[in-house]
Amino acid sequence: MTMNIPLDAAAAEKHLMKFLAIDGVTGQEAAIAKSVSEELQAVGVPASAIRFDDAHTRIPLPTETGNLIVELPGTKPGPRILFATHLDTVPLCAGAKPKREGDHIVTDGSTALGGDNRTGCALLVSLVETLLKHKLPHPPITLLFTVREESGLHGARELKPSELGGAVMCFNVDGKLASELIIGAVGQENWDVEIKGKASHAGVAPEKGISATLVGAIALTEAQRAGWFGKVVKPEGRGTSNVGIFGGKEGQPAGDATNVVTDYVHIKGEARSPESAFATAITAGYRAAFEKAQNEVKDAAGAAAEVKFSNTPAYPPFTLAEDSPVVERAKRGIEAIGLKPTTLFSNGGLDANWLDKHGVPTVTIGAGQYEIHTVKEYVDVPEFLRGCRLSVALATLDP
Ligand SMILES: [Zn+2]
Repeated sequence: MTMNIPLDAAAAEKHLMKFLAIDGVTGQEAAIAKSVSEELQAVGVPASAIRFDDAHTRIPLPTETGNLIVELPGTKPGPRILFATHLDTVPLCAGAKPKREGDHIVTDGSTALGGDNRTGCALLVSLVETLLKHKLPHPPITLLFTVREESGLHGARELKPSELGGAVMCFNVDGKLASELIIGAVGQENWDVEIKGKASHAGVAPEKGISATLVGAIALTEAQRAGWFGKVVKPEGRGTSNVGIFGGKEGQPAGDATNVVTDYVHIKGEARSPESAFATAITAGYRAAFEKAQNEVKDAAGAAAEVKFSNTPAYPPFTLAEDSPVVERAKRGIEAIGLKPTTLFSNGGLDANWLDKHGVPTVTIGAGQYEIHTVKEYVDVPEFLRGCRLSVALATLDP
């Protein structure tokens, strides 16, 4: 039986248009956070229920504000539910001018739109508006609006789990289709190599040089031959890897003249896998390849390059069981609004990776964002409204 959700679609769209018109690229979330806070108060949330955490003081990049957190008391008993979304947009969204065109909200084509993730911000405000206006019974709810998602999931990463009021499950809004549930995602490691060779005149005395470029090239060839490059499928696991940057000092090219043996190269790459141990194994494969290459390139006196390989975990993977309580509730919610749920595993990290790590199992749902991070980005309004209705179902279903 389909639930009747009393959503005010015009009000929901108004929130969305308002938020889309506010600049708030990653790290610069103060204005959008203020607007979200004002809209929440306008729909009846007391100012005392709205606060910011201090996550931005722990983020290693300049960040205007902490995560915005809202606590709503329950009007029926039940475990606390968290609804999350991110405030920031990618830099390509700066200056976006949203306009309605048929069923879509688009821009003038010179910027991205920011439906990723203002659809989430508008959805959370519309959810609260609907719950309060129609006095719909719901368990205690926490809303979380994170900062700096787009630049590395920083707000969610630096969030203290104690800020979430003991929420037992979370619905994160950051996707396309309301009926499509993201129930897991890969984890990622980043690796970084500095190769210090030795410069020498390439025509007069090439044998006296140690080419950092050659060490890097051999290492990457080795990594590829050993099966660690691109799509990685081994008996012990699967994942992906990439070499993103092959350059010199501070954004310069590797080497600066054809007649000098290149003395310095800086290479950056990544490894992803559904298993964090296997992401580490891929990284170890690259490390071994660089060690091997280091021993193959020597000058006439037998000296080798200095190779400094380092790696850092970027975010942990997670996988929720199809029959876990949060996935089960998400599926029931989708069926309640007359749709058929599907589940998928993401090859990119989400705030959900960190929320799950913080102890709150998190399913990510969609609310109409399309062609994200491009100048063709648009919001599909009917899909956005389906996402809004879904959130009301998720908040009001019996446990
Ligand atoms: Zn997003």
